[in-house]
Amino acid sequence: MPIRRALLLFAIVSVIRPALAAPDAAVLQQALARNLPEPAVQALAAIPDPGRKLLAARSYYRAQASLEKRWSWSEARIQAYEGSAEQKQLLAEIARIGEHFSSVNPGYSLYANTKVRSLDRQIAVWNENASVGSASAQLMSALDADAGMKIEAGNPQLPTQLKSWLGAHSPAPGPNVAAPGLSAHGQMHAVDFQISQNGSLIAPADSAKVATVWRAQGWDAKLKASIKAAGPAFEGPLTSPDEPWHYSYSPAHEETGHVEISP
Ligand SMILES: [Zn+2]
Repeated sequence: MPIRRALLLFAIVSVIRPALAAPDAAVLQQALARNLPEPAVQALAAIPDPGRKLLAARSYYRAQASLEKRWSWSEARIQAYEGSAEQKQLLAEIARIGEHFSSVNPGYSLYANTKVRSLDRQIAVWNENASVGSASAQLMSALDADAGMKIEAGNPQLPTQLKSWLGAHSPAPGPNVAAPGLSAHGQMHAVDFQISQNGSLIAPADSAKVATVWRAQGWDAKLKASIKAAGPAFEGPLTSPDEPWHYSYSPAHEETGHVEISP
């Protein structure tokens, strides 16, 4: 009987107290909005889950000085890029890399997604990506366990407390996508190369395929060789997270070895 009662109590408590429910997301949003720039606040407002919201805010605080410079292009800027000289330069370089690749790997070709990754797309991915889900769950349980943190609208210290708390907490492993707005793909500063054979992708940009396909079949080295031979504005690949397909693109910084670090 006592066990059943305890189970019943546990069930009731679980139902009435899920880890940070909807009202807390609103409290978090209000507190985070106090000391982040406007583009970041707007992006956070489009992330309903409290943990995913906090995880994104953590990246925004870390980026703060460079956030607005790195922020993903607006729709208008993306449209202006379509057909521009800078886009043609990128496409020509990708074409040269592709020709080199096919000539040394007969039967295989490179596929590069050359679409700018919009902020909306990044937000949609952030709201459903599994690696974001597990990193934010870690963050939420650490927050839940921290008796010093009171996520309440009546706590005037909350904005400052959250900022320093997030600065001190790093979920491991971290998410394998950049926080919305901060992807290097949002300003065409990065390109993901994939390998296809007879029109179907055999080495996709998928973290589950890094060891089994990219490394095991040597596509990481083969891609790198073609980029070295024909893509002077590309650098990489990204090592954290481990993405052998992701190369940063910096035509203006060819000489300086500038590397973007966001996936
Ligand atoms: Zn990428």
